[in-house]
Formats: sequence, C-alpha cells, structure tokens
Amino acid sequence: MSKQLLVVEDSKPIARVIKQIGEALNYQVTIATTLAEVESILQGNNDFFAATIDYALPDAPNGEAIPCVLSHGIASVVMTGKMDETTRQKILAQPVVDYIPKENSQAFLYLKRILHWQITNTSTGILVVDDSSAARNYVSQLLKRRNFSVYLANDGVQALERLKQHRDIKLVITDLEMPKMDGIELTNEIRKIYSRDQLSIIGISGADNGMHSARFIKNGADDFLRKPFCPEEFYCRITQNIENLNNIAEIQKAANTDYLTDLPNRRAFFTKAEQLVPQYIKRNMSYCIAMLDIDYFKKVNDTYGHEAGDHVLKVLALYMRKHIGTGLTARLGGEEFAVVIHGTDEDQLYNKLDDLRRDIAVSQVSYEDHHIVFTVSIGMVCNSKETLAKQMNQADSALYYAKENGRNQVTLFGKEE
Ligand code: GH3
Ligand code: MG
Ligand code: MG
Ligand code: MG
Repeated sequence: MSKQLLVVEDSKPIARVIKQIGEALNYQVTIATTLAEVESILQGNNDFFAATIDYALPDAPNGEAIPCVLSHGIASVVMTGKMDETTRQKILAQPVVDYIPKENSQAFLYLKRILHWQITNTSTGILVVDDSSAARNYVSQLLKRRNFSVYLANDGVQALERLKQHRDIKLVITDLEMPKMDGIELTNEIRKIYSRDQLSIIGISGADNGMHSARFIKNGADDFLRKPFCPEEFYCRITQNIENLNNIAEIQKAANTDYLTDLPNRRAFFTKAEQLVPQYIKRNMSYCIAMLDIDYFKKVNDTYGHEAGDHVLKVLALYMRKHIGTGLTARLGGEEFAVVIHGTDEDQLYNKLDDLRRDIAVSQVSYEDHHIVFTVSIGMVCNSKETLAKQMNQADSALYYAKENGRNQVTLFGKEE
C-alpha cells in the first residue's frame, strides 16, 4: 500500500516539484499551503508516514507549522529559505528528520534521497552499544526518527549476543569505555566474524583524545564520532556508512547476475553449485544437474530479429523460475541455461524438467505482432557422485544426444536411447 506524504508549502511551483518527487517514490501526496489548512487536514487524517514542512508560511512565518505536525508524530523534513544560525538551532532543537536549505536543485535531490530512506531504512538494523542508558537513548532516538530498526546493548558481550539474534543488523555504533568488554575489544571480536563488506562499525569516543579514534580504526572500525556530536554530523556518518554497504552489495549482485534475464550468471552458478552438490552427495539426497538449450534459436533471431530473441530469453527465464522454484537456475551464456534441483527420486526430477519442456513447447511468446513458438532440449545427470565439472560434461553430452535425437526432449545421461 502506498504511504501518505503531507507537503506543507505555500509556493505552488515548489509544492508541485515536491509532489512529483513524492509520487515518483510511490507516496500518496496531500498539499497544504497554510498552517490553518495543516490543522484542518490533521484533524481529519492522521495516517501520514512523512511530511515536508516549509519553514515560513503566510500564517506561520517563524516555523510554527513544525511543532504542529510533529505533535501528530509525523516524521518531518523541514525545507527552509533562511539558513541563519538561530533558525538552524531552532529547527534542530525539535525532533525533525532533517532540514534542507532550499538553495538550489540539489536540495530537491537530497529531499528525494531522504524520503526514499524513510521507506527503506526499516529493513536496516542498527545496534547501539553503550553502558550509559542516557547515551543509548539519545542515539536510539536519532535513529528511530530515521526509521531504522534499533537494537540496544549495555556492553560488548551483550552486543555479540544481539548480533547473533538479529541478522538484519548492518551497522554497530559502539562506545569505547564499557564494563566486561570495551568498544575496541568488541570491534576486534566482530571483525573475526563479519567482514567490512557485511557490517559497518562506528566507534564513539568520549575523551578528547584523538588516539582513541585511531585505535578504533586500526582495530577494524570504519568510522568514529567524537562526543559530543550534533545530529547533522551523526546522520551524515550513518548514511554514508549504510550507503557504502548498499553499494558493495549492489556491485556484488551485479557481478553475479545476468543482465538480460536477471538470473544468476555462469560465475554465480558454479560458486553455488560447488557448495550444493557435495551437500547433496553427503546427505544421500536425490538431485540432478541439467543443461538446457533453445532449439534452432538462430532461426528465431533470423526470422523475428535479435530483440525478439532477447525477449524469448527473458520469457524462458520466467518459465525456468516458475518450474525450478527454489532450486538453482542460471544462464550460462547465449541461449544455454543450467539447473541444479533436488527431489524425491530420478523419475520425479525427470518429470519436473519434462514439465518445463512441455510448458514451453505448448506456449506462444508474443512480441510486437508476432507469436513466437519455440522448444528446448535438456540433458540431465542424476545422483552422480562425480565432480561438478564431470557432471556438467555428462549433462552436456546428454543434451547433445537430445539434439541429435530430434530436439524438444529431455535426455538422462546413461540412458540415451
Ligand atoms: P540448436 O538447436 O542446435 O541449439 O540450434 P541453435 O540455432 O539454437 O544453435 P546455434 O548455436 O547455432 O545458435 C545459437 C544462437 O543464439 C546464435 C546466437 O546469435 C544466438 N544468441 C546467443 N546469445 C544471444 C542473446 O543474448 N540474444 C539473442 N537474441 N540471441 C543470442
Ligand atoms: Mg514559504
Ligand atoms: Mg562508557
Ligand atoms: Mg540452441
């Protein structure tokens, strides 16, 4: 369901820009142009997920709309034309998500990122480790305003327990001096389990001694904050570290995904299959490896064009996902795909692949004005104890047999006839 965004803004052009930004992020947008209007809207509707508030309105020239919206518990971003120190202090004294000076178009790009994070941050867990409950609460309040899932720990020992319990934790913010296990020891322990690609650590040192921040970094922390810190600095460090992790995850995903079909690629297939196959053999499970190749695919390209061919590959990937389900399926390259699945026995695995083959053979792929019919051939090897490389060769030779024998069929290695 789409979330509701309240846009408080008296300038029509600016309100329109913010509305577009909100709608691009799938928000349902309501605009209010005066404080009076805000009050009447909030009387009838209290389901707003977020709000943007213009600091100066005709009937509220000094930020009076901010406490009004905040009193309804709505996460609010303040947009301001004035950026003097008094205004800044006045805004920051209130629990706003952020404030953005309306200086140039960058302001709206930044607003878009903020509104996007408000939605996505819920899936990011952050662990706050501090022996002082006042410090823990302060940091936790700042994080909750940004919709992060917050977990708390009193010391390093408890922190390690929390990490084990909650797999969504992506960032640990830890104090230095704590009983039982201090922040440096904790950082050390965490790095034995989680790499910097998986989890970020920000150390907080209270003392005005720069040496502590260096010790944090040398022990595997990614960043540090010196107490006391202001909310702006805090949020910048947090988002930078989270964005870093997200970027790394995206790069890793791209390196393992086929760009056309979104299936795992050859590299991902071999990495995953090398893990799966020994497990199946060890547990004595029925499993198979299969290679699938489109029949006369060159003809599809020649008849309907290369783009139609690409479309067929994408549709084929959908059929494979549908039939293979949680099993491993990948595009090895060109029009060649591979599968690893486990099941009850050889017959059931054969039937599963044959169902896939038949489903494709009786379907039509619509592309522009064309209805394209195509078939696939599949070679499979079942319950072999050979190496993955050897089994891939065996599946390939079964596939070759299927092609030679008339295509549009599944052939089991060792039973070719
Ligand atoms: P067979 O039944 O023997 O497999 O015949 P085939 O025509 O499918 O096999 P062949 O190996 O002769 O041709 C494969 C074709 O697949 C040639 C190539 O242009 C096409 N192809 C490979 N990758 C892509 C792709 O990413 N997109 C498109 N549209 N075509 C591709
Ligand atoms: Mg205004
Ligand atoms: Mg302490
Ligand atoms: Mg082919």
